Amino acid sequence: MQYHTPTSFEDAIEIAAQADGITRFLAGGTDVLVQLRADIVTPDTLIDIKGISGTKTITHNDDGSWRIGVAVSGAEMTEHPTLARDWPGVVEATDLIGSTQVQGRCTMVGNLCNGSPAADAVPAMVAAGMTVTVSGPDGTRELAVEDVPTGPGKTCLAKGELISAVNIPARGANGGDAYLRFIPRTEMDIAVVGAAVNLRLEGDTITEARVSLGAVAPTVLLVPQAADAIIGTTLDDAALTALAQAANAACAPIDDKRGTIKFRTHVAGVLAQRAARIAYERAQKAGK
Ligand SMILES: Cc1cc2nc3c(=O)[nH]c(=O)nc-3n(C[C@H](O)[C@H](O)[C@H](O)COP(=O)(O)OP(=O)(O)OC[C@H]3O[C@@H](n4cnc5c(N)ncnc54)[C@H](O)[C@@H]3O)c2cc1C
Repeated sequence: MQYHTPTSFEDAIEIAAQADGITRFLAGGTDVLVQLRADIVTPDTLIDIKGISGTKTITHNDDGSWRIGVAVSGAEMTEHPTLARDWPGVVEATDLIGSTQVQGRCTMVGNLCNGSPAADAVPAMVAAGMTVTVSGPDGTRELAVEDVPTGPGKTCLAKGELISAVNIPARGANGGDAYLRFIPRTEMDIAVVGAAVNLRLEGDTITEARVSLGAVAPTVLLVPQAADAIIGTTLDDAALTALAQAANAACAPIDDKRGTIKFRTHVAGVLAQRAARIAYERAQKAGK
């Protein structure tokens, strides 16, 4: 195995583009190193991206948007003085990953590119309308987070491409987001279902919303029908019922010992309702 420590994205791209066999990028390593030690994936080329300038930086841009470096850990996001004020759902989702030890290392990008349908940060990233900057031999492109995973363990990134930044939109006025997951234990488990809601209010009426579900399909889902069910409402009982029905309808989960299809489908609706209520309350507070 060849281990590289590039100090620029250009160098990382060149190494990845020329590498043969299996290539992995090393962000926090909490998936890569576990898979390596368990003989699940032994990369021929391992490219540590933490030495690249800017990868450990959280930037609040002048227009209110955020740029999160690709090696910023969950703990660094949680400890940031103002990020969680803007995006509590994104931060709480990332904070659910693993234990204190894992939090010191794990990244949102690694969570996304590992390609697990049950990845905790990803539904919140999708609901927030986040994008990633993809850099590769042919230049740079911007992708919506929901377009990155293509199936369990798979992404749309081509050979030589990597994510060079994570972008969160400006929070704007009267907005709130939330993420909830169901696990059979109290912590350190993989989501059986995850649900994220991000919305904006005008008065008490929801004017914008995005709803995302995890662990109920081969990839994390953006569910526009669920958002449509609550836009234009004050999140009354009828809207919550319609939200749950739309979430249920979007589910195409697996049936395994951790949750049956029926259970996962039902819980997706329940969690979408609860996350919507929390996001709504947060948006109300933000408006005061
Ligand atoms: C004990 C334990 C508990 C865990 N609990 C949870 C949990 O509760 N919820 C959960 O969702 N996950 C959990 N995980 C999984 C893991 O911690 C997360 O998926 C984490 O976010 C991965 O981030 P990382 O930076 O460590 O990724 P890495 O292991 O460094 O990389 C993961 C993948 O992303 C790719 N990658 C990394 N950076 C880039 C980049 N810039 N561009 C392109 N590809 C890139 C790598 O090639 C690799 O395929 C747990 C893991 C452990 C060991």
